[in-house]
Amino acid sequence: MLEVHRLEAGYGPFQVISDVSLVVRPGEMVALLGPNGAGKTTLLKALMGLTWRRGKIVFQGKSIEHLPPHRIAHLGIAIVLEGRSLFPEMTVYENLLVGAYRPMARQRFKERLSEVYTLFPILKNREKQLAGTLSGGEQQMLAIARALMSAPKLLLVDEPTLGLAPRLGTELLRLLSNLKAEVPILLAEQNVALTLELADRVYVLEEGRVVLEGPAKDMLQDTRVRESYLGIR
Ligand code: ATP
Repeated sequence: MLEVHRLEAGYGPFQVISDVSLVVRPGEMVALLGPNGAGKTTLLKALMGLTWRRGKIVFQGKSIEHLPPHRIAHLGIAIVLEGRSLFPEMTVYENLLVGAYRPMARQRFKERLSEVYTLFPILKNREKQLAGTLSGGEQQMLAIARALMSAPKLLLVDEPTLGLAPRLGTELLRLLSNLKAEVPILLAEQNVALTLELADRVYVLEEGRVVLEGPAKDMLQDTRVRESYLGIR
């Protein structure tokens, strides 16, 4: 579904990501873990064509590394960035409408809207409310819901639990993992324990390189991960 080979990414002359290879398979939720500044966001942005410098990115058998971001979005990769990039002066409904920009998604707008409202009932209750007046958790749900309105084939999510109360963060990550059969997910997270519980596979990034990778379940047993990231001996 997604294959990344020896990716390099960065900003202008600043290289942040070096020699990163990864895969996301159908039905998977794959997580990028690592400390602040490790390059998780930069990596996700590179897949959208925003920070790419070198390396191969193959999505559904097609090389996409030279495509501009809007073409990549139209192929079916959707990204939910930290900060959520909602339109605060527009209603919840209008934000969802904007999300359905792919022609395929527009044709099935009503159907998708009702699916998204089933996933996030609170958004239906707040349909006419301005996005800027929602709570942090509701805004995060709206950002994910808006991405889903584009009928994506792959969903990239940057730190969905950031700034949320722990219970809400857990709920949101569970909800994402329930979506993976329909749309595979690559997410960046800082909540190590929760990620290892819910993700299928994990890549640990440090200073822009993958330092550890494997099934989440194996990592939970890994002494190095337990000591360095979970503080468990
Ligand atoms: P965080 O959890 O803080 O978002 P991260 O793992 O997602 O961390 P990135 O945001 O990808 O890390 O940042 C990686 C490096 O790239 C950092 O050193 C950061 O200072 C740098 N960086 C991020 N955005 C820019 C930018 N727009 N221009 C230049 N450098 C940037």
